[in-house]
Amino acid sequence: MSARRETPAELAGRVRAGETRALARAISLVEDGAPEAEELVRLLFPATGRAHVVGFTGSPGVGKSTLVSALVGLARSEGLSAGVISVDPTSPFTRGALLGDRIRLSEHFLDPGVFIRSMGTRGHAGGLAEATLQAALVLDASGKDVVFLETVGAGQNEVGILSIADTVVLVLMPGSGDSVQALKAGIMEIPDLVAINKRDHPLAAATRADIRQTLALGGGEPPPIVLTEAIRGDGVEDLWRAIAEHRARLEPGGKLAERRARNLAAEVYAVAAARARRHLENAVQDDPELTRLLDEVRRRALDPLSAVHEILRKVFHIDDEDDSDAH
Ligand code: GDP
Repeated sequence: MSARRETPAELAGRVRAGETRALARAISLVEDGAPEAEELVRLLFPATGRAHVVGFTGSPGVGKSTLVSALVGLARSEGLSAGVISVDPTSPFTRGALLGDRIRLSEHFLDPGVFIRSMGTRGHAGGLAEATLQAALVLDASGKDVVFLETVGAGQNEVGILSIADTVVLVLMPGSGDSVQALKAGIMEIPDLVAINKRDHPLAAATRADIRQTLALGGGEPPPIVLTEAIRGDGVEDLWRAIAEHRARLEPGGKLAERRARNLAAEVYAVAAARARRHLENAVQDDPELTRLLDEVRRRALDPLSAVHEILRKVFHIDDEDDSDAH
């Protein structure tokens, strides 16, 4: 047997041909932050931009995985292929087995038209935002018609993760008071759609009224609200339709292209920021002089901004004091 390893170009070719094993290998490389992964995605990038990327966010237990699983079933019944990336920023474990009770998705495991992968927070120089972005691009290039991204969130830490989505769905369940508060307080961005899952719960109607009222405060056209019972598939078709309609509303007048352009730029910022932070932390740790500065701040012997100026100067060669003098 030849010991020669497949080149990124060869792997890219197989991914573009839609081979499931190539896809699995490509996503593993991306997850591991392997050096070949960057070249692979560079080669695949021209083939991206075709998939409808749909992001789901919401607290743990609201039913995101169950909902995504039901939507995958619907997509498949329409002859569409699907990719699913489940991102759990709270889990240190990555790769392979499904996280927690994402077991629901397992009903699609044997379907070659569906590719499912879970991701936790291990070993990505640019963090999960980078790994998710790269994985979504790989799935897109492989010809998946729909890419579902699913992540736990209350509006902030998933920003980098979902900023590649064409459509963002906030999933709530009856009594999701904290998410409603986060929306009210403006901590959470207004999503494109709201799904209130577990509509079998007695508080479902009250939650819808509460959400409707909250969203009306935002001004502009409030996002559609869909009630679902994911576990039985009730309302899931309505949600699927609402997702398709959202995309259809974006198509004319180049709004989708505009949003994607903005999303890609946001991804570049998110990934660059994560990498810069990692670089900064390592640099400070490795440099006794900078570590001492930080210690001085901790002891209140030095004010924080003086330490910032010194650190930026040394690590990034940014002389921001001079900058401000210039204005
Ligand atoms: P996630 O953490 O948001 O992905 O939530 P899961 O999809 O894992 O669902 C959490 C729990 O809620 C599981 O036990 C599901 O079986 C249950 N669940 C999901 N959808 C519904 C629903 O519509 N009604 C009810 N009663 N339970 C549901």
